[in-house]
Amino acid sequence: MYTHFKEINDLIKKSKNIILTTHVVPDGDAIGSVMAFAGYLKQKGKDPVIINHSITPDNLKFLDKKNTIRVFSKDQEKNEKLISEADVIFILDTNDFSRTKSLEHYLVNSPAKKVCIDHHMGLKPKMFDFVITNTVYPATCQILYEYIKDDDEKYLTKEVSSALYVGIMTDTGSFRHPRTGSDVFMVCADLINDGADPVKLYEEIYGNTTKENLLLMARFISGLEFYSGNRVVLGTVTQKDFKTFGLDIDHVEGFTSLIMNIKGIKLGIILVELKDNIKISFRSKGNIPANKLAAEFNGGGHKNAAGANVKGSSIPELKEQILKKTENYID
Ligand code: 5GP
Ligand code: MN
Repeated sequence: MYTHFKEINDLIKKSKNIILTTHVVPDGDAIGSVMAFAGYLKQKGKDPVIINHSITPDNLKFLDKKNTIRVFSKDQEKNEKLISEADVIFILDTNDFSRTKSLEHYLVNSPAKKVCIDHHMGLKPKMFDFVITNTVYPATCQILYEYIKDDDEKYLTKEVSSALYVGIMTDTGSFRHPRTGSDVFMVCADLINDGADPVKLYEEIYGNTTKENLLLMARFISGLEFYSGNRVVLGTVTQKDFKTFGLDIDHVEGFTSLIMNIKGIKLGIILVELKDNIKISFRSKGNIPANKLAAEFNGGGHKNAAGANVKGSSIPELKEQILKKTENYID
């Protein structure tokens, strides 16, 4: 069930058709993981194909300069075929097939060996043939770093190191979230020695905000609501907001850290209205289990960062339900 690196290595050696994928609304760790692992596999003479549900967010496109990531719904027939003919499929930075959205059905039904490499809780190991998991690590990219280095440090090229660094930087909230231990800095020191440029990579990810994005943020801030003696904060972003500024869900990144930086806040909740569902982000401080709160809405995640997606509800309705539940978590 819990696999040693060597078993995966043997599997890779035997495999010709290799697919990589990651979760919907991919973040830096998701794109960093698929790009780094693909870069590693290429050096081993393989020709991996990355197929994701979502398009790559603008600020992560620099990791995939050649635009190699396939989006499932574009040329779906070919992508279905690729998945059904795969020898092995790597599911990175999620342990839950449903988080691959449109790919789920095809992944589950593919005869390929399925390998999960991930750092989230709530793993159902029976879903996979091989699993490498470490919920202590702040990023999947840290597991992949260990994996690649264990094979041979020569594979940590500038390209691979940069992708891994991005995953760790973004999933640690630039080295300040819980789980940012000294080990994280040692790994990143190594990645920098191997060519990752921390200044340039930060600039690529966070230094490209636009006027529209700032205005969306202003609207979000002005709509914040505070509860439980200013220990709970709740913010919303609606379809109308996105339309007004010509933006989408990718541009909400960073809003969670914004609200969790407010002094005294213990629980932050963001509701984002998408086309056919509402995405909830939960963030908590200390021992408040955001993942348990998320589970009440069929979601999941980590203790201090979790989420859920709810269909068939409205923002006011969902807000009321959530606020009722939060009372049980805040005291
Ligand atoms: P975010 O709020 O940044 O989208 O998500 C934070 C974390 O919550 C993610 O890393 C993931 O672990 C978890 N998460 C978000 N949405 C969902 C969901 O719909 N289902 C599950 N199981 N986990 C989610
Ligand atoms: Mn991650």
